[in-house]
Amino acid sequence: MTFFQQVELIPEDPILSIPPLFAADRHPNKVNLGVGAYRDAEGHPLVLTSVHKAEHHLPPDVFWGRGVTGELGTYSTQVRKQFVPVLCNHCQEAACEKVCPSGATEIREDGMVLVDYDKCVGCRYCVIACPYQRRTFLSKDIMRKGYYPGQGFSELELIGQRLYPLQEGTAVKCTFCVERIDAGLEKGLKPGTDREATPSCVNECVSKARTFGDLDDPESEISRLIRTRKAIRLHPELGTDPSVYYIQY
Ligand code: SF4
Ligand code: SF4
Repeated sequence: MTFFQQVELIPEDPILSIPPLFAADRHPNKVNLGVGAYRDAEGHPLVLTSVHKAEHHLPPDVFWGRGVTGELGTYSTQVRKQFVPVLCNHCQEAACEKVCPSGATEIREDGMVLVDYDKCVGCRYCVIACPYQRRTFLSKDIMRKGYYPGQGFSELELIGQRLYPLQEGTAVKCTFCVERIDAGLEKGLKPGTDREATPSCVNECVSKARTFGDLDDPESEISRLIRTRKAIRLHPELGTDPSVYYIQY
């Protein structure tokens, strides 16, 4: 059995139900940064969700990563559980960017897809257009909900809101921790190698399931993984050209 067949077993999930799911193709040279590599399973959703929350002080109902689970195999003796973490794929033909009427969503030179919240008009076209369901609209209800219902925002939540202010009425998503990367690059550090210049989920993953790096550098760890292992991407047939690869082991 292959991974493709596994995901067909969870047809209720719109992200993973449309075969063929993956391709092992190489990116065009446009993309310089950005890759998450997935090796394994149990426990990652909690860890990665916690990291996103801690790094970006996200409200309770906002998740920049989501975990999709399914089964691999056909017969009961051969079936095993499979977990797939899904984050913003930083697509190079991003559906969210194509529909954005205000120019708030942009693809940087290095391939990261980012949102200028000051330009965002809150139309939510991107929320609908993203085939991976990785956009969240920050509604009034979402912004006013705290982690301790009925008790207002805790001191920690208030600190988080100051450190990482989110704007109500905008659509957010994973940024590959762009602040860390840009600050690291300014110091001459190497994303994916130097911790200070690397996304938090890559740093904190307890089993080191994630790798980040330069796709245009054939010597980078991520390029080596893609070259030597079966690297696959979510829904290549949609033409979004994701920057996130998954590696089977
Ligand atoms: S995964 Fe969705 S939100 Fe992220 S770049 Fe692609 S289309 Fe946009
Ligand atoms: S919600 Fe904001 S980022 Fe999304 S399409 Fe509308 S203007 Fe662009």
